Amino acid sequence: MKIQEADAKRLLVAQGLPVPPWEVARTPEEVRAAADRSFAAGAEQVVVKAQVLVGGRGKAGGVKLAANADEAERIGREILGMEIKGITVRKVLVAAAADIVREFYLAAVLDRAARKVLLMGSAEGGVEIEQVAAERPEAIVRVHAHPIAGLLDWQARQMAFALGLAGHLKEAVGIAKGLVAAMIANDADLVEINPLAIVREKHASEGVIERLVCLDAKVSLDDSALARHAGLEDLRDLDEEDPTDRAARAEGISFIKLDGTIGCMVNGAGLAMTTMDLVKRAGGEPANFLDIGGGARADKVAAAMRLILEDPNVEAILVNIFGGITRGDEVAHGLIEARAMQSREVPMVVRIVGTNAEEAGRLLREARFETAASLDDAARKAVAAARSAQGVRA
Ligand code: GDP
Ligand code: MN
Repeated sequence: MKIQEADAKRLLVAQGLPVPPWEVARTPEEVRAAADRSFAAGAEQVVVKAQVLVGGRGKAGGVKLAANADEAERIGREILGMEIKGITVRKVLVAAAADIVREFYLAAVLDRAARKVLLMGSAEGGVEIEQVAAERPEAIVRVHAHPIAGLLDWQARQMAFALGLAGHLKEAVGIAKGLVAAMIANDADLVEINPLAIVREKHASEGVIERLVCLDAKVSLDDSALARHAGLEDLRDLDEEDPTDRAARAEGISFIKLDGTIGCMVNGAGLAMTTMDLVKRAGGEPANFLDIGGGARADKVAAAMRLILEDPNVEAILVNIFGGITRGDEVAHGLIEARAMQSREVPMVVRIVGTNAEEAGRLLREARFETAASLDDAARKAVAAARSAQGVRA
């Protein structure tokens, strides 16, 4: 689950990382009020940043500076409602603009192969890190955190020196360790700071100083671990969740949309993948991955069918159920119920084996469903049905 920059920054602050203060605004008037407060506190400029769950906001015109409250309000009006990569901006972050001296990249990611948290840094921050990784992989420094002790002091120092941050050693070490701590404390898959920046600040007492701060934050949390952390589920941004994904989550169905034409309804992730493979082998393309899980009742089957039918690309549906805890007759009832509510006619091939398969077969035959004895047979029939559906329209 991706979370917004402002929420990600809160998780960083909780680990003691230096993040300049910010406010979140939802209207141009709120942007103005936040900017007013920032200017009153001594800011020379404010930055207004679109809060959307996609990267590259800067390039897309979603990050802008303003020199006074009028300009901040105008920029707020411009950015709020703007579309970035298909997502409408509904809120912005407002902060005193930093006077950036240098930008770095620093991130903690899960290295599944090594089964460790990997800290990655680059002195070429600000720009897209994927580009640096592709063109100059040696410009990215990698350090694996200790699996139990987290990032050790010497490892953090190694990263700091490698990035040329010897002049900010203590701060850099604190940030690197805090980043890994934030990753572990929240069961995150990714905690990214881009840019981590040396900024120039004017202080009444100390004069001009340079310090290291986190100007942007991107955090992705492990969905399966959300239950372990009070409050993290609340950070899900429902504004940006795809309606189909939301419905699937509410029903407890694992659903991933794909580009093909054969809708698949299966119980069990392994069986779902096998089913997709067999659809491909029969010459078709799966429209989705869908796992209704174990022990699904008729209403869940009907909900899964609605998810599949919402996809206009679906030309045929393949139902493949291996009855263990899941009862075949329950699934059959669900399919019959779902077809009664079906808004458009889509051919369906059903294969149910295992618990109560005979009863399921009887129900389905009575309801005139097309059934198949083997999975290969079912995949072939579904692909053929999709082809003839395409043929009819062509
Ligand atoms: P992203 O494009 O979605 O990654 O958004 P960022 O927050 O990283 O902003 C993109 C770029 O805008 C940064 O790399 C900076 O160059 C610039 N930027 C962001 N915040 C500030 C700021 O406070 N002051 C200045 N001068 N530039 C900023
Ligand atoms: Mn960024």
